[in-house]
Amino acid sequence: MSESRMCDEVQAQLPSYVDRSLSRVRRRLVGLHLRRCQDCQRAFSAERDLAAGLKVLSAPAEEPPEGLLDELLAQAARPGVKGRAAVPARGAVSGARPALSVALLVAGAAAGTGVGYGTWRGVRRLRRR
Ligand SMILES: [Zn+2]
Repeated sequence: MSESRMCDEVQAQLPSYVDRSLSRVRRRLVGLHLRRCQDCQRAFSAERDLAAGLKVLSAPAEEPPEGLLDELLAQAARPGVKGRAAVPARGAVSGARPALSVALLVAGAAAGTGVGYGTWRGVRRLRRR
């Protein structure tokens, strides 16, 4: 078997090697090849990083905190803080009135939730009548 053929073989088995589902014999062969092949070592690091990244993504602790959107909506809806809530949007929408910026902020946040979308659809349905 040529060297590059061996590399193809090894790299094809890297996912199983990383998640330890490879048989002991194959695992040993891959390990031996990795020790003397830099190309496959690089591929191995990439595969390992990918597996680690996927683990982080699927971990419950990494999900955005529940209620963050509710908090944002509550803050934007509170009459007293309208001016302050509009500050980040004011730069992006130059010349727009603060109240309009808040409305855009709320609409954007509400569209991101199922409840917000439902409300929005309900409002549209009411207006059509
Ligand atoms: Zn190799």
